[in-house]
Amino acid sequence: MLDVLVAGGGPAGWAVAAACARLGLDTELVDPAPDRPWRATYGAWRAELPVEAQTAVAASGRGEAIGTIAHQLGWEYAVLDNAALRDGLAAAPVTVLKGLAREAHPDPEGVTVDLGGSGRRTAVLFDATGAARSVLGAIPRRSAAEQTAVGVLVDADAARDLVTPGSALFMDWRPHHGETGWPTFLYAVPVTSDRVLLEETSLARRPGLGLPVLRRRLHARLAHHRIAVPPGTEERVRFPVDQPLPAPGNWRGPVVPFGAASPLVHPATGYSVATALRLAPRVATAVHDALSRGGAAAAGTAAWQTVWSPAALAVHALRRRSLESLLRFPPKRVPDFFDVFFALPRRHRWAYLTGREDVQGSAAAMGALFAAAPWWLRRRLVFGALDPRRRPGLGEDMTA
Ligand SMILES: Cc1cc2nc3c(=O)[nH]c(=O)nc-3n(C[C@H](O)[C@H](O)[C@H](O)COP(=O)(O)OP(=O)(O)OC[C@H]3O[C@@H](n4cnc5c(N)ncnc54)[C@H](O)[C@@H]3O)c2cc1C
Repeated sequence: MLDVLVAGGGPAGWAVAAACARLGLDTELVDPAPDRPWRATYGAWRAELPVEAQTAVAASGRGEAIGTIAHQLGWEYAVLDNAALRDGLAAAPVTVLKGLAREAHPDPEGVTVDLGGSGRRTAVLFDATGAARSVLGAIPRRSAAEQTAVGVLVDADAARDLVTPGSALFMDWRPHHGETGWPTFLYAVPVTSDRVLLEETSLARRPGLGLPVLRRRLHARLAHHRIAVPPGTEERVRFPVDQPLPAPGNWRGPVVPFGAASPLVHPATGYSVATALRLAPRVATAVHDALSRGGAAAAGTAAWQTVWSPAALAVHALRRRSLESLLRFPPKRVPDFFDVFFALPRRHRWAYLTGREDVQGSAAAMGALFAAAPWWLRRRLVFGALDPRRRPGLGEDMTA
């Protein structure tokens, strides 16, 4: 019997597998294509990355944002070198299997996992299969709020007007794409010393804004800045930001979702990679300590409680409310909202963006936002968050 089996070889699966193996837990990881490189461009606030990921930074820059005016964030934004990050994690003594985890049958002593033809017994199973949460399952079928984006890589020199050397433009809400309707922003960050990613992004919409719209706006924005659309592949982004937590019936036991499956995704920003990297060693320690004391059931419970502590649950609920507010904003007012947010004192912005278990900090940030907001925004913040109806938004043009 294994101590830990991880289903899913994305950043979250590898992070928790490596952390478990480093503590001496007998750990396997199963993925249908375990050698496939991670293709997405993963970014994070540099100070949020754990020490080992600091050496896997491909490029970084001073964080900047533009609502209707420019703001300095006061901290660095980093883009990860996926191969270096993965090589570092894969140096841990994890046994890798090629395959799909199909079903999990938990019992008081552990879990039997069907790997399609063969079975594995493990004390704890982490479901790190991404947004699909394909092992633990139980994601109700409904229309998700999604982040969508289309991006291209260009020479840093060509994009100087947008992103100056040494900086990383987290959001640029100026409507230089020339369209009205659902608001989208440009994400413009260095990915190497001489290349930048320019990505037209819809932060969240229910359902996600279509990729053809984003592509059209990206090309128009590039034309506005006299940047030629480069040949070659584009980055396409689509993932849910409001995945429900697992149903209460699934809350105990040794099958534990991790990463986007958990969901560790920040509902109002879409970020999860840095959180998974930071959280993995704590989760592994919880499993390690509980296994020796109380066996599989105790280890699973300890892992659950580490990922979803009462504080993490409370902050998640606050963030979900702010996502609902955001989805209901009049499109034209979204850049003004971000001007108010980015003008808040640094500690509030940092707490809101990164304080996954900082209930006080998150609540204080939301309070400070309310206090700094003009009346139209206060009304939106309160009524948007309380409105139980799930709508794409209140904008004039929902079909953009
Ligand atoms: C293009 C793109 C860009 C993004 N950029 C950022 C970013 O900059 N910063 C950020 O924080 N987040 C970003 N995200 C969001 C999110 O963090 C990523 O989706 C991230 O990949 C989630 O990591 P994960 O390990 O939880 O899941 P995934 O990376 O989705 O990995 C899941 C793995 O599980 C495997 N799998 C699926 N089913 C099974 C099964 N039954 N058995 C075994 N294996 C299975 C899959 O093959 C896959 O390898 C981005 C998302 C996309 C799509």
